[in-house]
Amino acid sequence: MRIDIFTLFPAMFFSALQESILKRAQQRGLLTLIVHSIRDYALDRHQMTDDLPYGGGEGMILKPEPIFRAVRSVLGQATAPVILLTPQGRPLKSALVQELAQQPRLLLICGHYEGVDERVRRYLVTDEISIGDYVLTGGELAAMVLVDAVARFIPGVLGAAESAHHDSYASGLLEGPQYTRPLVFENWAVPEVLVSGNHARIARWKRTMALQRTLERRPDLLEGVMLTGEDVEILKQFHRPMDEPDAME
Ligand code: SAM
Repeated sequence: MRIDIFTLFPAMFFSALQESILKRAQQRGLLTLIVHSIRDYALDRHQMTDDLPYGGGEGMILKPEPIFRAVRSVLGQATAPVILLTPQGRPLKSALVQELAQQPRLLLICGHYEGVDERVRRYLVTDEISIGDYVLTGGELAAMVLVDAVARFIPGVLGAAESAHHDSYASGLLEGPQYTRPLVFENWAVPEVLVSGNHARIARWKRTMALQRTLERRPDLLEGVMLTGEDVEILKQFHRPMDEPDAME
C-alpha cells in the first residue's frame, strides 16, 4: 500500500513512522509512506500557505491553491481516496480502518491552525475522517494514528503469530486480560487455566474474559457482535438485572 501525506510539518512524521513495526513494513516493501510538504506547492515567493479568514474570526486558514496543486501533481491521472483529517469527519472505527486497508493507495491531507479552506473539502477530497470527538492542533497526529491502525491490517505487516483480527474491536469485542512471565509476580499468579496446556479450555476462558470485559466496559459493542448460543449463556452469568437487589445490602 502507498500512502501520500500532505502536511505543513513533514518533520513531525520522521521518527514516528520510522520505528518498530512500521519501519519493518516499509523495509519489506509492504508499505510506502511519502510525506509531502504543502509549502513546496505554494505559488508566491513567500510560500504562503495560510491566510486570514474571510468574515473575520480567530486564527489562520490553510489556503486552497497549494493543497490543490500538491494533490493534483502527486496524484496525476491516478485515482485514489483523498482523505481530509478533520474533527468533523466520519469517526475512525475498526470497520473503517479495515476498509481503508483494502485500498492500494491513500492520500491524507493534514489541516492545521483554524482549519482548511472549505473548497478543499468540497471539491478536492473524497472522504473526511476524524479520530475522535476532540480537537487537535493539526491533522498530523490524526494521520499518524490512521496510518498506524491501517498498516496493522495490511497482510504481512504483523508477524505470523500476531493478528490484528484478534485484537480489541476487530472481532467486535474487547480482548481479555493478557499475561507473560513471570508466573508469579509479587504474589499475583497467572490464572491457572493459561498454563494448563488444555487449548480448548484456554480458548473458552479467553472468549469468556472478552465477553465479560466488553459487557463491563463497552456493552454498546455487544449489539454489533454475532453471538453464539454459548456466548449468550456466558453473558447471562455476568448479567445482573437492574432491579435485582445487591446481595450485600
Ligand atoms: N476549526 C476546526 C473545527 O472547529 O472543526 C478545527 C481545526 S483544528 C484546530 C486544525 C486541524 O487539526 C484540522 O484542520 C484537522 O486537520 C486537524 N484535526 C483536529 N482535530 C482532529 C480530529 N479529531 N480528527 C482528525 N483531524 C483533526
